[in-house]
Amino acid sequence: MLAYFPKPLPEEMLSSMVARYHYYSGGGGSYATCEELFCKKTITYDFPSGLDHFTSQLCAGEPYNSEFFIFNHTLAPIFLPFFDDTNKEEILVEMKTVSSKNLHTKMGMMGDIKNKTYMEYCPVCAKENIESYGEPFFHRVHQVPKVLICPEHGCLLNEYQEIHKINDKNIIIKMRGDNLNLVPQYISDSTFSAQLQMIAKSALFFLKLAPSKFNKSFIFEKYRKLLEEKDLAYSSGLIKQEVIAKEFYKFYGERLLESMESSNMARQNWLEYITTTKGLKHKIHPIRHILFMTFLCGSVQAFFNFPIEQNDTFCPKQTYSVNIEVKLLKSSNSRLKVNWGERDIEIREKLKHAYVELLQLEWPVRITKLSLAKHIDMRAVIMKNKKRLPKTYEFLNKVVESSEDCQLRKLDAANNILLKEGEPPNVGKLLRTAGINSGHLSIKLKDKINLLLQNSA
Ligand SMILES: [Zn+2]
Repeated sequence: MLAYFPKPLPEEMLSSMVARYHYYSGGGGSYATCEELFCKKTITYDFPSGLDHFTSQLCAGEPYNSEFFIFNHTLAPIFLPFFDDTNKEEILVEMKTVSSKNLHTKMGMMGDIKNKTYMEYCPVCAKENIESYGEPFFHRVHQVPKVLICPEHGCLLNEYQEIHKINDKNIIIKMRGDNLNLVPQYISDSTFSAQLQMIAKSALFFLKLAPSKFNKSFIFEKYRKLLEEKDLAYSSGLIKQEVIAKEFYKFYGERLLESMESSNMARQNWLEYITTTKGLKHKIHPIRHILFMTFLCGSVQAFFNFPIEQNDTFCPKQTYSVNIEVKLLKSSNSRLKVNWGERDIEIREKLKHAYVELLQLEWPVRITKLSLAKHIDMRAVIMKNKKRLPKTYEFLNKVVESSEDCQLRKLDAANNILLKEGEPPNVGKLLRTAGINSGHLSIKLKDKINLLLQNSA
C-alpha cells in the first residue's frame, strides 16, 4: 500500500502523476518507481500497463480503479471507439495486466502517422495550472499525435525537451515550471489555425467520450449510410471514390492534409479503406477518422448526432419501434384492415414530437420528410403510404426546411459555440464552424452573418 499518491488533476496523463509521485516521494531511480507502482521496469507514457497492480496499492477508500485511469488519464479513449467490442476488451485487459507487450502496435500507432517525439505542453494551460494547482502538468490532449495546438487556447504546443525523448520509454518526466517557455505563439494563417483547432477539439471530444459508447462496426455502418445520404455512393452501393477524393481535398486543402500526414492518397489509399469494408480489416488512425467525420458532417459531434437508421444490434431501444414498422408493413400488405385514419393521426403526433426533438439538437440537422420519418423509425411506412397519410403529409410539408433554412440555424449554433468558447466570431470562423462552403453564400446567409457579427461586436 502506498502511503501517498498525488491526486489526479483534470485531464492529466497518468505518466505525469507517476512523475509527480516519483518527485515528491524522493524516490531513487525511475526504474525502481516503475517497478514499485506497475511491477515492471518501464511503462509507456500513453498506454501504460500493469494498472491492476498499481491501483491495488492505492489507499483504501480512494475511488480509483484501473478503468478510471484508463478512461480519464491515458490516450486509450481516442483509439478504443475504432475497435470492435472483443478487441476493445482485449486492450483493456492488456492495460490492466503486467505482462502486456506491443500495445502501440495493437492500437495501430505504428502506422504511417508519426507519434510525438517529446511530451508537449500549452504555455497558457501551464501558466494557468501553476496558478491553480501550484505546478504544471502534462495534459492528455496535448500528447495526441497530430494535435498541434491547444484546443482551448489555440496557441502552438511546445515540446518539453528536458531529459529524454518519449521513445526512451522513460516516463518519469515531471514538468517543471522553471523549464517552460510560457509565451504563447500563434499560427498566422487563420484558416490553417482554425483547422488545427478543429482537430484538437475533436481529439478532446473523443478523449471524453463515454468509453463503451461506440465501436468500429457502428462507425463504419454510419459512414456507409452517410455516403448514401450525401450522394457519395451509387444506388448499387458502389462508392464514388474519385468524387470523394476530390471533394475531400477541396474541403481541407493541401497544407492541412500534409501536416496530418494524410494527403498522399495514391500511396496510402486510406480514403478508400475508410469508405469501404476494407477499413474494417485495417487500423485507421483516429486522426483520419476525425478528418473523415468532419468532412461528412462538419464536425465529429454532428457525425454522432446525425440521425440515421441504425442496425438493431447497435441500439436495442430501437428494436421495438423497428418491429412496429415491420408489423405495420406486413399489415399494410395483408388483407387485415388497417385503420389508416387512426394511423395517420398517430404518426402525425409522433412526428410532431420528433420535430421538436430535432429542433432541440445542439447541432442542427436539416428537417426533411426523411429525417423526421427516420427519427421515429417509420421511414418505410411513411414514404410508401403517401396517399393514405394526408394529415401526416400536411404536417410534413408545413415543417420541412430548405438547405438554406438549415444553414441559417447552423450559423446560429456555430455562433453560440464560438461565444461559449470565448472565441470572437468572424465570417471565416462562423462558416467553418457551421460547415458551410464560403463559395456559394446566398443573400439571406450573408445577412444572417452580418447580423450575428453586429450582435456579438
Ligand atoms: Zn492551453
